[in-house]
Amino acid sequence: MNTTPRVRFAPSPTGALHIGGVRTALYNYLFARHHGGTMILRIEDTDTNRYVEGAEKYIIDSLQWLGIEFDEGVSFGGKHAPYRQSERKDIYRKYVDRLIADGKAYYAFDTPEELDEKRSQTANFQYDASTRMSMNNSLVLPADEVSRRIANGEKYVVRIRIEPNEEIVVNDIIRGEVRINSTILDDKVLWKSADGLPTYHLANIVDDHLMEITHVIRGEEWLPSAPLHVLLYRYFGWQDTMPQFAHLPLLLKPDGKGKLSKRDGDRLGFPVFPLDWTDPITGEKTSGYREAGYFPEAVINFLALLGWNPGTEQEIFSKEELIEAFSLERCSRSGARFDYEKGKWFNHKYLQTKPTEELAKYVMPFFADNIFDDEDKYRKLLAAIDSVKERATFPKELFELVEFFFIAPESFAESDLKKRWKEDTPRLLTELAEILRTLPSLDDEQATEESVKQWCEAKGYSLGAVMNPFRLVLVGQMKGPHIFTITRILGKTETINRINSALKIIEKFGFDADAAMFERAVKRYERFDDPQ
Ligand code: GLU
Repeated sequence: MNTTPRVRFAPSPTGALHIGGVRTALYNYLFARHHGGTMILRIEDTDTNRYVEGAEKYIIDSLQWLGIEFDEGVSFGGKHAPYRQSERKDIYRKYVDRLIADGKAYYAFDTPEELDEKRSQTANFQYDASTRMSMNNSLVLPADEVSRRIANGEKYVVRIRIEPNEEIVVNDIIRGEVRINSTILDDKVLWKSADGLPTYHLANIVDDHLMEITHVIRGEEWLPSAPLHVLLYRYFGWQDTMPQFAHLPLLLKPDGKGKLSKRDGDRLGFPVFPLDWTDPITGEKTSGYREAGYFPEAVINFLALLGWNPGTEQEIFSKEELIEAFSLERCSRSGARFDYEKGKWFNHKYLQTKPTEELAKYVMPFFADNIFDDEDKYRKLLAAIDSVKERATFPKELFELVEFFFIAPESFAESDLKKRWKEDTPRLLTELAEILRTLPSLDDEQATEESVKQWCEAKGYSLGAVMNPFRLVLVGQMKGPHIFTITRILGKTETINRINSALKIIEKFGFDADAAMFERAVKRYERFDDPQ
């Protein structure tokens, strides 16, 4: 590449940023960073009808959370400021006038009613070379009439004048050469006197030119606009500095056909927005990746691979590795199916790499205040998290997984109890408690395991007959990490206490007590909680 690239992410603040938009921003970012280029945030807010309060801030906050950084743009400043299109009105007007003066655009006075009437008269009516001479515009009206109408404040738009039968070539890095005939294009509106604002097409081209954009990387839905954009570059005489296009593949629904939509997320239960969003008009709340417990790095990694592939089997990429490996040439042309389970898989992987202290911050608020000021408790928490984190996809799951280390089970899973608690269980557990008492500590998992196994072997007890109820009295259910990891973390006293407490309950209420009664009794567990 001869020049350092300058790319822009140019969202319209019409609502929450969709995950597809995030991917567009990400690919622009990776491309810019890979080539040591510049990343710009431009807000395209010229469509006042679709403007949504709060959307711009939402976009900026989302990208900041994700670590997609900008060098120039709205809220970052830069040599081409302002970067918000609504603040660039005067600039656009100049370029519209230039097109009109060159005969490449014209004034049109057709009212919405007149246009509707045309549409109802002619099937597939298009405002173009074949129809414009029967319309109400400056190509038809005498010049003084045009000036008079404008001077009178009559509403008008400026339309591009497209000549038929010209070949337009869009060079797309991902899709190759796309050729179309200008006859299929209509004389699109470029500017409206009603609000003094340009439409997307004009503002987009003028700004890409003025901001020295070298590559336009955007979603496939913008491909149909590209021929008009190429034509505008030609009309302005800017062909030599026309950016290169790269239209990214669509994000497809997890199932069935078509583009991923917010409704798919609602239907299948996954977020399509980066952050929680409340629609300011309807008040509808939609959940975001951040609040669902995703790590930004996991979202980035997940999205990077939806439409781009490194050409190797590697799946886990740090941001730096993505920057290093990314290229537009390796983006696919066909749509990328959104696989939500894969997103969770990435989050699970990233959770495993987090420092335990960081994970502890998610867990501590669920416990009583200040209990982890106690250093031993805090150390126990870290050990507990380490022992369960491979079972967690989201940090919020960690509390449930470690809770039993700190709060002795208050009830036992009924089905487990029925299945695992046998007549001789109390005797086996009493003996087990005795064996554990003889050990200096339970710190060495292997040593504990060996002692317990040797005892079982010597007595001819089946391992299951001991271990299953043992787990039940420690955890409350047949879940959790390795049993001797649990005993290491609980420590000797607590382990033996839990056995004894459970046995007392049974002694008091009898093994024959029905499960519900048993459970009620166990709820009062703490009463028996002092070591004997
Ligand atoms: N404002 C357009 C959008 O909302 C930008 C399209 C483009 O990148 O040219 O996506």
